[in-house]
Amino acid sequence: MAKSPYRPFTPKPEQVALMPAISGNTINGMTESNYRRATPIYWRDPASLHHGELQKWFYTQNPDNEAINEARAERAKILDIDVPAVNGTPVQQSAEEWTEELTAFAENVDCELFGITALNPDWTYEGARLTQKWVIMVGVAHDYEQIKTAPDGTAGAEVIKQYGRGSKAVKDISTWIRNKGWGADHHGGPMAGPLLLIPHAIECGFGELGKHGSIINEEYGSSFRLAAVVTDIPLIATQKSFYNVDDFCDRCQVCANACPPEAIMPEKVMVRGELKWYVDFDQCIPFFNENSGCAICIAVCPWSMPGRGPKIVQQLLRRAARSA
Ligand code: SF4
Ligand code: SF4
Repeated sequence: MAKSPYRPFTPKPEQVALMPAISGNTINGMTESNYRRATPIYWRDPASLHHGELQKWFYTQNPDNEAINEARAERAKILDIDVPAVNGTPVQQSAEEWTEELTAFAENVDCELFGITALNPDWTYEGARLTQKWVIMVGVAHDYEQIKTAPDGTAGAEVIKQYGRGSKAVKDISTWIRNKGWGADHHGGPMAGPLLLIPHAIECGFGELGKHGSIINEEYGSSFRLAAVVTDIPLIATQKSFYNVDDFCDRCQVCANACPPEAIMPEKVMVRGELKWYVDFDQCIPFFNENSGCAICIAVCPWSMPGRGPKIVQQLLRRAARSA
């Protein structure tokens, strides 16, 4: 793929002036070889963040973009929807029965992906104390025709729209669980609260981590958003998926070539004790902020093209068979 037409990228001086002294990569634990929980870096109360002024500045960009303003207004309406309190005492039945009923209910919730996994305290942010046993994940797919316009505001508006749809889906699931007498808390993006959504989503079967730092799903590629519910209602985990995305990403440079500020690391790096694909936060965030949330890397990923993922999986299987 040709290199990005948006290079060279130079951040606006007023944005540079807001950058904190500490590197976002230091906060994220890049090159740290010991495990620790993640430190909040973005998408929460700006007063609590080193990068809070940058986050506030993001919301001042594109003030006249009608699609973005409309999407934000629609999402605000969803965020205002009340979720009822827990209704009575918990109805008792087996985890198998609850999983079957909840899965059937989720088929009528407006989302494309649904999965269940045990809540892993290692995948909560530093300082968070979640005691619930289960995480219910949902994924909501972008309209590919909209997201492929990235970094245009049309794509930014599509992202906001899907965050709204994800929030509505988890509110619907929380409401269903609370009406059965069980506690349930929902977390919709981008303000994802105490929970790291990506590792839980990988564990429940949504896909594998790609070089661009987002999940790659067989059907939707990286063109979707996440939201979650945490609960104690008895459940059974869904299965993790594996199609050897690493084998593809090791040989593909599409996202790295397309990323204007060259933020996508060509090789895996050590982050808080785990060797993983990583996006340089300090490089990404200025372009992200000035370009409606960017989304170029997920739009150009070959897996995100409708119908392409299953063909790539077949290709990887044939390759693995040949190697064997
Ligand atoms: S979102 Fe960040 S990493 Fe992805 S293409 Fe844009 S600038 Fe690069
Ligand atoms: S564009 Fe290529 S390298 Fe990047 S995440 Fe997608 S498959 Fe992996």
